[in-house]
Amino acid sequence: MGTIKDVYDVIKDLRDFAVEQANTPFYDKVIVIQSAFFDMREEINELKEEKQKLTNEIEEGKKKNEAINDIILNNKGYFTKKSDNDNLIYCTKCYAVDNIIIPMTQTGSNSNSYLCSKCGSWANTKQIK
Ligand SMILES: [Zn+2]
Repeated sequence: MGTIKDVYDVIKDLRDFAVEQANTPFYDKVIVIQSAFFDMREEINELKEEKQKLTNEIEEGKKKNEAINDIILNNKGYFTKKSDNDNLIYCTKCYAVDNIIIPMTQTGSNSNSYLCSKCGSWANTKQIK
């Protein structure tokens, strides 16, 4: 923003100079320049906001892509993630319907059944292939 402030300082100096010289035509030109400057400054701020919004969307897309590439879907009705060391099981229904990754909870310490706390879906890790 240093450049924008520098330009505004010059405009203010020109305006002060025009007042000092009582030069109305020059003053009027400076006011036109000042008005255009304010419009440009506003447009720059809008573009910065738009750029930030798009940057955030790109980052979100990258994260979603990484999450999708991390998924290993199996034929037992659940999926795991390559990046998980403890092989958590995730709900395929929540992923398919809402595009969210919900870990499923084992229903007992030695159970092969897992429950999704969000949608109530079940998965069994011992199902026949
Ligand atoms: Zn679910």
